[in-house]
Amino acid sequence: MNITSINPYNQEEVATIKALNLDEIEEKLTRAQSTFKSWRKTPYKERSTHLINVAKELKKNKQEYAETMTREMGKPISQAIAEVEKCAWVCEYYAENSERHLGIKNIETEASKSYVRYDPIGVVLAVMPWNYPFWQVFRFIAPALMAGNIGLLKHASNVMQSAENIQKVFERAGLPKGCFQNMAIGSDRIENIVRDPRIKAITLTGSKPAGAAVASTAASEIKKSVLELGGSNALVVFDDCDFDATVQTCVQARYQNTGQSCIAGKRLLIEDKVYDKFLSAFAKAVTQLKSGDPMDPDTYIGVMAREDLAKELEEQLQKSISEGAKVLLGGHRHGAYFEPTIVTDVTPEMTIFKEETFGPVISITTFKTDEEAVDLVNQSDFGLGVSIFTKDEARVEKLIPLFEDGAVFVNDMVKSNPNLPFGGTKISGYGRELSSDGIQEFVNKKTVYIK
Ligand code: NDP
Repeated sequence: MNITSINPYNQEEVATIKALNLDEIEEKLTRAQSTFKSWRKTPYKERSTHLINVAKELKKNKQEYAETMTREMGKPISQAIAEVEKCAWVCEYYAENSERHLGIKNIETEASKSYVRYDPIGVVLAVMPWNYPFWQVFRFIAPALMAGNIGLLKHASNVMQSAENIQKVFERAGLPKGCFQNMAIGSDRIENIVRDPRIKAITLTGSKPAGAAVASTAASEIKKSVLELGGSNALVVFDDCDFDATVQTCVQARYQNTGQSCIAGKRLLIEDKVYDKFLSAFAKAVTQLKSGDPMDPDTYIGVMAREDLAKELEEQLQKSISEGAKVLLGGHRHGAYFEPTIVTDVTPEMTIFKEETFGPVISITTFKTDEEAVDLVNQSDFGLGVSIFTKDEARVEKLIPLFEDGAVFVNDMVKSNPNLPFGGTKISGYGRELSSDGIQEFVNKKTVYIK
């Protein structure tokens, strides 16, 4: 069986990769396990040097890696280059900080010595999505390797050449073969791999059905998982916000990566006092976004990653219109291209408010009071993050504890940063990536007691 990726902009074939057979999967698992035995003993300094070399390789060939991502999933090339650069950042961050994150923690007891040490657990399987083909993988593999673990990747079928390229990054950077391996397989192979005793934990980024399937298999084998699933972040605009900056930030929060981001601001909640003025400025800014060939460095809105995903978004939009929502801007689809779209008069019962919209469509709702704003934010089954825009510091302090999300950003869009934990609540998943919290997810927190 072959896995083929098709350019969603022009329907040309990008790559055809032969799917692994059972013997080849076994070979990868064996190699991963044997590499673990030596990798776990390498000092932090050596691991750091390797990761710095990975960062150098990413920077050196960023154009090559970015172009493949753009061809495979339609991401504008300037955003693809920025993604590769961010991967270099996360490698450098963990190269510099992991020894500190995982340093021995002494705890005083009646023993002569007692402490906690953070030992590697072994081979970690990552099931990853297509929306940030490089970033999602590096966010997992940089801390995994620094902790002494080994990575095996099952990437989304539509970005398999990017997955092969990630393996190439590690080969070119000179890491031991087996530290990171891509497995070109379909998702039907995952269950048996999760059950394999050599796999010690699983991390998955993607949809709720994929997360539920993989995590329940993992749970039945008593294996730990981290899930980073969808989101429907709110952008809450109060009348005392820094107006122009807030307009620009909200546009970027929704439309970057052609709207295909779990932490995108999908529900724009505007205080009634500033509603008309803000909506008109927001719509004007959205009109100015340049759609076009994803390979053109000036393009801001590319095409969606697959036509079926664009069709799904269209269905959500049509359903919402039949429920009473109104299209202020855009609303049309041509193949995998979806116009930047603004939908007003949205209430919490509507599809577009309840479900995740994974493309360039924003829903607009208005509110009168702080309490109403908090209720609207929390009235989502998702809980990845929320942004609030206000100059009132007392309001900020009062509201932050009331949100149910995994992150609150004030006067900025929710974004990931290697220094900060990243993850959600409710059906957005569990566990954290990045920062010291991320690297501590897949380690054996070993208690040592010496009488
Ligand atoms: P999926 O969640 O289906 O795919 C993500 C990854 O999971 C892929 O590697 C996929 O492999 C794999 N996968 C899917 N089903 C299973 C399964 N039952 N067992 C094991 N692995 C599985 O995403 P889609 O591409 O279908 O996108 C659908 C929706 O998911 C989007 O519209 C969006 O709402 C959400 N999504 C969220 C992302 C996020 O960042 N949180 C990222 C991408 C999507 P394969 O490609 O071979 O099917």
